[in-house]
Amino acid sequence: MRRWLCPPASMVHTPDIRALESEQSHLLMALDRVLAQEEQKESAARMARWLSLRGLVERAWSRVPGYRALWQGHGFHPGMLQSWEDIVRLPMLEKETLRQADSATWQDSATAAEALDTRTSGSSGSPVRIRREAASLWAMSARNLLAYHGWCQGSPLANTLYFIDPTHHSIDHALAAQLRATVEETRLLSAFLPVEDQFRAVQEWRPDFISTYPSTIRNMAAHMKRQGQQADSVRLLHLTSESIDPLGERQVREAFPQARLVQSYTATEAGLIAWQCAEGSAFHVAEHGVLVEIVDEAGHPTQDVGRVVVTDLGNTASPVIRYAGLEDYAQWAQGPCSCGRPGPRLAAIEGRRVESLRLPDGALHTPYEVTTALSAVPGLEAYQLLQDDVLRFRLRRVAERQADEEELDSSLVAALRSVTHASVVCHVVREERIDPEPGARKVPLVRCLMEDRS
Ligand SMILES: [Zn+2]
Repeated sequence: MRRWLCPPASMVHTPDIRALESEQSHLLMALDRVLAQEEQKESAARMARWLSLRGLVERAWSRVPGYRALWQGHGFHPGMLQSWEDIVRLPMLEKETLRQADSATWQDSATAAEALDTRTSGSSGSPVRIRREAASLWAMSARNLLAYHGWCQGSPLANTLYFIDPTHHSIDHALAAQLRATVEETRLLSAFLPVEDQFRAVQEWRPDFISTYPSTIRNMAAHMKRQGQQADSVRLLHLTSESIDPLGERQVREAFPQARLVQSYTATEAGLIAWQCAEGSAFHVAEHGVLVEIVDEAGHPTQDVGRVVVTDLGNTASPVIRYAGLEDYAQWAQGPCSCGRPGPRLAAIEGRRVESLRLPDGALHTPYEVTTALSAVPGLEAYQLLQDDVLRFRLRRVAERQADEEELDSSLVAALRSVTHASVVCHVVREERIDPEPGARKVPLVRCLMEDRS
C-alpha cells in the first residue's frame, strides 16, 4: 500500500479486536434505540421529546452555572416551561456568550469529565468547546447509518471512501473512531491530503460511495477537470458540514457523472441536525435528537428565511439549549414529504450569517442568493467575493479555458448588482486558481464585513 493511503498519525488506530467488538456492540445498541424511535407513534415521540427538553432544562438550571445566570438575567426559571409554546420564553444563547466564558461555566461537571472534548473549527473566530457524551455520538452514528440505508434504498454500497477532518477535537475525528465499527481503517483518509493524492485514491479504490465536505470534493472536481478526468464508479456522494453553491454542485456532478448527491446538516455544537430525504431535496430534521427553530432578526418564529436556533436533546455534558450561534440561515419546507415521513423539513440551508452581505440600507443577502447569481454566469470556474467596505467588493475569479474574459467580468459584476440592487463597486481580480489559506480546508466563497464581528 502506498504511504499516502495510510491515515495521518493522529488517526492511526491499532487493530484491537476487543475494542472493535465493543464499538460494534455500542453501535448496535444505538441502532436498536433509533429503530425503536422510528416505530413510535407521533404522539409518543412528541411526548418523549418534551420529557427530554424538560429534563435538559431542569438539569441545566441546577447544574450548569452559565444557563442559570443567563436565564435568571432574563427572568426565566424552569417552572415557566409548561407547554411547547413556552419554549420561546427561554432566552437564546449566542455564540459570543459561549466563547467568552470559561468552558466549565457551560458544562455539567457530573457528565463532562467522561465526555469527549470537541471544538468548532474556529474558521470565523475562536473555537467553541463542547463536551459530548459517547452515547450522543453513538446515537448520531446510528442516525447517520439509517439515513445512509435510505439513500442506498436498503442495499448499502460496500466500496466506500471517506475524506474527513483528522484534526484532533473535531467532531469528525470523534465520529471517525465510531466509523471504524463499520468501515475499514484504510478507507478513512484525511481531507487535508493534497488533491492529487485524494484523486489517486479514488482512481485506485474505485469507490461506490464517497463521504466528505463540499470544499474537498469541489477541489477534487476542479483538479479532475484540469486533468480531463471523471470518476464513474461513484454512485452515491455524501456531503456534510458545509453547504455547496450551484457552481460547485455543477462541477461535482460533471466530475462524478453517475453519482447521486446527498447532504446532511451537522454542527459540532448540535451534532446531526437534519439529513436530505432519499426521495427529495428537502432535509428531514433529526427531531429525536434536536429541536430546530427558525427565527427572524427580532427572534420571532418565521416561515421566511431566518436564523437556525437549535436545542440538542441528546447531550447533557455541554447542554446546547436554544443556541443561535450556528449562524446558519434556513427556511422550512411546506407540506408533507413525498416519502411519507412525518415531521418538520428544511427546504434548504442558505448559508452562514457571517458570509451574508449587509448593505447600507440594512438589507441582508444570504450567501445562497449571492452564490446562485454568480454561479449562473457562463465561463466561470471558481470565485471568491470579498466585501472590503459597505459598497466595495473584490471578486476573485478563475475563468474557464474557453471563456471570453471581458464578457465574463462584466457579467459577474451585473450578477452581483442584480442581487444587491445597489450601485456597488466591484473590482474583478483575475486569478489562475484560488486555494484555501494554509491550514484551512475550504475557501470561503463570500467573505463579508460581518465576519469581523463573529
Ligand atoms: Zn422525505
